[in-house]
Amino acid sequence: MMDEMDFENRIVASGYTPEDNDIEISLRPQHIDDYIGQEKVKENLRIYIEAAKTRCEPLDHVLLYGPPGLGKTTLAGIIANEMGVNFRVTSGPAIEKPGDLAALLTNLNEGDVLFVDEIHRLSRAVEEVLYPAMEDNALDIIIGKGPSARSIRLDLKRFTLIGATTRAGQLSAPLRDRFGVIFRLELYTPEELAGIVKRSAGILNIGIDEDGALEIASRSRGTPRIANRLLKRARDFAQVLGKGTIDLESAQLALNRMEIDELGLDNIDRLLLSSIIKFYKGGPVGLETIAAAIGEEAVTIEDVYEPYLMQIGFLSRTPRGRMVTPAGYAHLGIPTEGQQTLF
Ligand code: ADP
Repeated sequence: MMDEMDFENRIVASGYTPEDNDIEISLRPQHIDDYIGQEKVKENLRIYIEAAKTRCEPLDHVLLYGPPGLGKTTLAGIIANEMGVNFRVTSGPAIEKPGDLAALLTNLNEGDVLFVDEIHRLSRAVEEVLYPAMEDNALDIIIGKGPSARSIRLDLKRFTLIGATTRAGQLSAPLRDRFGVIFRLELYTPEELAGIVKRSAGILNIGIDEDGALEIASRSRGTPRIANRLLKRARDFAQVLGKGTIDLESAQLALNRMEIDELGLDNIDRLLLSSIIKFYKGGPVGLETIAAAIGEEAVTIEDVYEPYLMQIGFLSRTPRGRMVTPAGYAHLGIPTEGQQTLF
């Protein structure tokens, strides 16, 4: 039995700082068994963790890639937790100089996990410090300048680097090659997301029925972070306007108010598709051109909007650019050329 006081203690004991005391953190699963979906990844990961523990070695370096919000940070935290080691979090843009990375590495304890989000954004100079650290647990330090400069090698404790990126293709080949384990996270199915929504509703202490959970799940573009966000808004609507629990009706009310359609597309998705249709006859059109047309950054379109639009078959990528598919036209209720009589 866990009373409120124990719960507080447990949070603090897990090393959370007060500003982490945000809902997203409390919804993060701590154990691999609570991490829903990504079955193939979990299956392999369980084996690697057990093998490393049996050998009393740190886990090999892991690269996680996939669109934002799919659970890369969460999974990295779970790995540290399951290995029973500390979890240190940083990101590519935060490590500005080689010295910043050296400081992080020398502060690690034996076996610790260093999580580097957006690892594709590390500078070349910083990456070079990382290579001997990943390969030989060593830090090469240059002392002095010019002809008298010499390099000395410092030993580091053994550690696991977990890198996360939305784009594995942008990682330099030498860095990618130094990861022993590479996992690609996939978009979640509505059923998996419904499981996540129900779990989160339990933590947030709001009732939800099966239909309500599935409704939120099927409009969350395959992404747990979005599912949790929509759940929180649906909770507001259910508490203020509804019966206090989330059912199909209150979920639909909330989602419609947020202008999220039955497939989870929001205004920007629809603008993206309709702009390609209106200005470029449905494509093919280059990414940069679309970005300029809708006033959104190309990387955001590529990382956030496109994966889902492609998964549901509304957008296709061709060598000459992006094209809206007939299914995309149909969803927007716009006739495709040559098919006008059908509409
Ligand atoms: P990323 O690092 O890929 O951007 P996060 O790990 O921050 O994504 O995940 C976003 C949120 O989604 C987390 O707060 C967590 O609550 C939830 N989440 C992600 N994956 C899962 C999962 N497999 N099971 C349950 N919740 C998940």
